[in-house]
Amino acid sequence: MTYTVVVRDQDRSQEVLDVITKKVKLDRDDKNPDIVIAIGGDGTILKAFHLYPKSLLFGIKTGTLGFYSNYLGTDLDKMIDDINNQTYSVSELDLLKIAFIDKDGNKKEDIALNEITVVSPLRTLRLDVYVDELYLERFRGTGVCVSTPSGSTAYNKSLHGAVIDSDLSVMQLTEIAGINSNAYRTLSSPLILSNERTILLKAVDFDKTFITVDNKQYSVENLNAVRISINEDKLRMAYHDYESFYKRLQRTFLISLK
Ligand code: NAP
Repeated sequence: MTYTVVVRDQDRSQEVLDVITKKVKLDRDDKNPDIVIAIGGDGTILKAFHLYPKSLLFGIKTGTLGFYSNYLGTDLDKMIDDINNQTYSVSELDLLKIAFIDKDGNKKEDIALNEITVVSPLRTLRLDVYVDELYLERFRGTGVCVSTPSGSTAYNKSLHGAVIDSDLSVMQLTEIAGINSNAYRTLSSPLILSNERTILLKAVDFDKTFITVDNKQYSVENLNAVRISINEDKLRMAYHDYESFYKRLQRTFLISLK
């Protein structure tokens, strides 16, 4: 068994890193680690996931929101014991996969933990939306967001999408500033799709578009089409004490800041 660490640039995270480096008994491997320890908050979890998507992820929260973190700051020794003695449990989270293609046939693929957005911040974007090849609507506006259940509390929540229990295997399509008029009509409500569906977005004009995948951004000069569905592989996250989704919601959003 080998491990690596991804650390948020912050004093408390550095202190935690020092303890981990001293006490974890596994060999360090920054190329193909079995275990990746993310020290920080959700941003650090996203970074760790994109660097090592196949590794078992341990998230330790050091003073930020930490919706994903299964170990809180006070759980450091517990986490180190779990790693050294393999006394952890593993939960799995849904991921999205995206494939997009431009006018010249150049194709890119990626996977997302939180969400994928297709946006044009300056000129309005026109997208024909298909579900399983069935034409649903023509969207015009800033863009669309497709999120996982665990990502539903991130960007999707700011777009007034539904918060989804992460035990459900679904994806959610939410509009970003859609225009609704006698010229353009869309559903306007967040749409929750089963894990067997595929969303196809066909660009009406070949325009410059941005595609975001969690904390990553692609700039596409002439977007042609985007296909999004739930990925076959899931993210594996380690935990010691099971924290229910609702407890997590409460500590992240409902207990007031002091
Ligand atoms: P960031 O802009 O520095 O931070 C985004 C904030 O979202 C952080 O407070 C982060 O928590 C929190 N967060 C991330 N995933 C979450 C989740 N699943 N549930 C609840 N909160 C979550 O960017 P970043 O840290 O690189 O994260 C990229 C993410 O930012 C994207 O995936 C997107 O969801 C989000 N975002 C949101 C908006 C918006 O709401 N208007 C716009 C753009 C992007 P920590 O403090 O623990 O890191």
